[in-house]
Amino acid sequence: MRGAPLAERVRAQVKTDAAELGSVGLATVLVGDDPASHVYVSGKHKAALEAGFQSIDRRLPADVAQDELLSVLAELNEDGEVDGILVQLPLPGHIDAEAVLQAVAPIKDVDGFHPFNAGRLFAGHPTFVPATPLGIMALLEEHRVELTGARAVVVGRSTIVGKPIAHLLLGANATVTICHSRTRDLAAETRAADVLVVAIGQPGLVTAEMVKEGAAVVDVGITRTEAGLLGDVAPDVAERAGHLTPVPGGVGPMTIAMLLRNTVQAAKYRQKALAFP
Ligand code: NAP
Repeated sequence: MRGAPLAERVRAQVKTDAAELGSVGLATVLVGDDPASHVYVSGKHKAALEAGFQSIDRRLPADVAQDELLSVLAELNEDGEVDGILVQLPLPGHIDAEAVLQAVAPIKDVDGFHPFNAGRLFAGHPTFVPATPLGIMALLEEHRVELTGARAVVVGRSTIVGKPIAHLLLGANATVTICHSRTRDLAAETRAADVLVVAIGQPGLVTAEMVKEGAAVVDVGITRTEAGLLGDVAPDVAERAGHLTPVPGGVGPMTIAMLLRNTVQAAKYRQKALAFP
């Protein structure tokens, strides 16, 4: 299940939608000098510009006071040119990340991390949903992976990937199990999965003997090593799985595409082409 071809189609549609909307603005807020965060933010800007968005880039020093960060967010919340706001994570240790994510106006929360949007997903009314899980659902749909009644196992329970994908799979009528570092017999759980989503950040942890023959396997993991980017799923799983996302080139490109799509959705809310709940 390669991500690039589908991501390209989503991005083309986003570009058409943005042109029709007239103006779409995406703001990123980056605190500090984490090199990986710089790479991610630059990637988001490049993608936003290619989609015809206005890209607003706010960078703050690593020792910024929490109040100052909150006042930048208040400014972006009020700014009529800004449709979507992304706060790049992780934030430095002295900042209360929860308070910061709650300071983003829910109508501009294109990452879907605000408790309002997380709660909407929990309640079965997805509004802004985090981009990575949305990308996974789009890939499963593209490859006609049957979800109704299927046994879906999610390994990882982060608020960015594990929990939201579990809710989306549940909403699609799968029978969902969530595993994590305290799961007693991980292999027994994963072997039962018709659909297996792995988001842990441990290269090659899921091996062929942990996967059911013919299962659809989504590898979300990205770990930078000297050998390049590695996923959480070992290469030998390809021989056993019915579908498998590659790393890189699977979920990654879909994440950016869905972030752009969420921003178009935000612009529709702002322009009242869609009603925000
Ligand atoms: P995270 O917040 O670090 O969470 C990792 C989860 O994995 C935790 O729930 C943890 O369990 C669980 N875990 C760790 N070791 C485990 C083990 N041995 N067995 C079972 N569960 C284990 O991670 P995240 O933010 O969700 O990211 C996960 C991976 O996906 C990372 O490699 C990240 O880079 C990648 N990622 C990729 C994209 C993309 O666009 N492709 C987007 C986001 C993330 P506990 O809760 O018990 O600690």
